[in-house]
Amino acid sequence: MSLPKTHSLTFTNDGAEFAANLSPCVWMYNTRLQYSVALKAFPHGTAIVRHPSLGLEDATEADALALCSGVRSKPCPRCGKPAFDPATVATNRGGLCEACFLDDLNAELEEAQRRERAADDRKDKAMRKKGYKWKVAVPIIVLSSEPFIYCVL
Ligand SMILES: [Zn+2]
Repeated sequence: MSLPKTHSLTFTNDGAEFAANLSPCVWMYNTRLQYSVALKAFPHGTAIVRHPSLGLEDATEADALALCSGVRSKPCPRCGKPAFDPATVATNRGGLCEACFLDDLNAELEEAQRRERAADDRKDKAMRKKGYKWKVAVPIIVLSSEPFIYCVL
């Protein structure tokens, strides 16, 4: 028996609803059975589950449900919203809900951008001390770490 390429299923664990969709790589690249499992409750998020040996041609509906239904949620340790339980599925969320995980990523990005702006400001100041008065941003593909051309006009 074989599952359809568009196979999907829903299940509930501990009151949390999940939706699982067969990953296209299974039929495109003939990989072992893989599903993208999504938390239906806000802030959502998805996790991937893989079967170690079954392929699409061998798997049944019961195999797919057995594979996916091991995924559980637990409250996010920071905000209490639903999050994937890392003990039941491999994720890089560390037990955080999608919103808290994205908040951390955004904070990391903002900090990196702040450091980059500060470095640019230091470089601008140093170049002004050398007598440069203009900085031209050139809209080209940057092949080096120096995206600006300094000019004395
Ligand atoms: Zn959270």
